[in-house]
Amino acid sequence: MFGGLKVEFVDSDDIKEVYSCDASRWYSVKPLGVFFPKDSDEVAECVRFCLRNGILITPRGGGSGLSGGAVPEPGGVVISTEKMNKFHFEEDGFVVAYAGAISGHVERMANKSGYTLPAQPSSLDFSTIGGNVAADSAGLRSVKYGSARDWVEEIEFVDGKAEIRKLSGRDARLLAGSEGTLGIITQVKMKLVRKKRRDVALFVFPGEKEAISFALEIIRFLPSAIEFMDRRASQIAFGYEKDSILVEFEDEYDRTCDEMIFLSKKIASDIGVMHIVSSQNLWDSRKKLGPSLAKIRPFKINEDVVLPLSKIVGFLNFVSELDSMIVVFGHIGVGILHTNIIFGGGEEREARIAREKVFDFVISSGGSITGEHGTGISKVNFVERELTPETIRFMNYIKADFDPNSVLNPTKLPLRSVRGCMDTNIPIRNF
Ligand SMILES: Cc1cc2nc3c(=O)[nH]c(=O)nc-3n(C[C@H](O)[C@H](O)[C@H](O)COP(=O)(O)OP(=O)(O)OC[C@H]3O[C@@H](n4cnc5c(N)ncnc54)[C@H](O)[C@@H]3O)c2cc1C
Repeated sequence: MFGGLKVEFVDSDDIKEVYSCDASRWYSVKPLGVFFPKDSDEVAECVRFCLRNGILITPRGGGSGLSGGAVPEPGGVVISTEKMNKFHFEEDGFVVAYAGAISGHVERMANKSGYTLPAQPSSLDFSTIGGNVAADSAGLRSVKYGSARDWVEEIEFVDGKAEIRKLSGRDARLLAGSEGTLGIITQVKMKLVRKKRRDVALFVFPGEKEAISFALEIIRFLPSAIEFMDRRASQIAFGYEKDSILVEFEDEYDRTCDEMIFLSKKIASDIGVMHIVSSQNLWDSRKKLGPSLAKIRPFKINEDVVLPLSKIVGFLNFVSELDSMIVVFGHIGVGILHTNIIFGGGEEREARIAREKVFDFVISSGGSITGEHGTGISKVNFVERELTPETIRFMNYIKADFDPNSVLNPTKLPLRSVRGCMDTNIPIRNF
């Protein structure tokens, strides 16, 4: 079937298994095989081939996504950007990277000349520049630096008609967060920022009310990171069974990070802080928090809901009253709360019910069911509850222009009209 194509294609059983799911490990669909193109022309060749043969396509970077966005379409192929990993720096602080460049590699090379990637997911070391843009990833410093979309200058991509296209300036942002449904990103030009001196401190409070009011006070001083951890998360990460806030500042032209940490300590004392910890190891402990949850229960559903800041205390009370074991932490400066429903074997049904209740609460509070992981396959059926019919119609128009035959990741969009969507029975991995 793939005869005559010059692009590398692998359809061995082990490759099909590895590329059947992403890091969520929630859904699993084996592809027909995986293409490994080396450049944009080869990506276009793959798309042309799939169009001729009526085969659906799922683009894939590092496969670190947490919403099943890179899970193959049933009967489809994966186009992996793994072999497209070169990048170079340009004057005035820009990086031009092939989509498959590992973001951590870009970051380390940028650091050598005093620059840094502004929007960094914690998965930096195993996710790609193309994947970060396609998922519009944010991360620990989103309160100051936003998400990938905010730093994209130019995007080259192959659309669903197999045409190589380029968008620049604000138009390039259209591809950010499109989760492989509008085009296969082949190259990205991104703005970097100067790396600054940083300082970080942890503030432990008697309860969530004090922790949240501290966070609301501190946000106005523009920290580079402000992270909330509920009492369970604080216990796991730092050994304090109390709600806590981790704050990081950077040196700015008119103030130093030491001055800002000093000011934060004063504000925290007025609010009734119990402990203040200053140590550069705080970030390591925070970054290990997600994986450490497996020590409590073996399985988890990690959601990335967003709430208006005024609704966060109500949300924390709501989840603590749910039957399921839920651990909440996240980028409180932008309202993103990683809501981790952790469960044991045989408890999957209860966990899924708890997840729906969480989504109901979030949507009825004016929040969003996804702040940074994207909707992928795991949340596509909830999108219609959050977005207006007008918005979904608008998404349809854009999809029709970029991918009129709907070959690109169609089950990841709430488009009832497209082939294989909504009613597709994606098999769910057994726990
Ligand atoms: C431990 C851990 C920590 C994480 N921390 C964060 C975090 O702090 N912030 C955050 O936002 N996310 C985080 N994530 C989620 C994930 O790492 C990000 O979504 C990341 O940007 C995905 O990049 P990837 O290269 O692995 O993409 P993949 O998982 O391969 O794909 C993600 C989506 O993008 C599409 N895609 C990938 N490459 C392309 C391309 N070239 N063209 C078009 N579409 C493409 C895929 O089809 C899929 O829909 C974390 C994940 C893990 C496992």
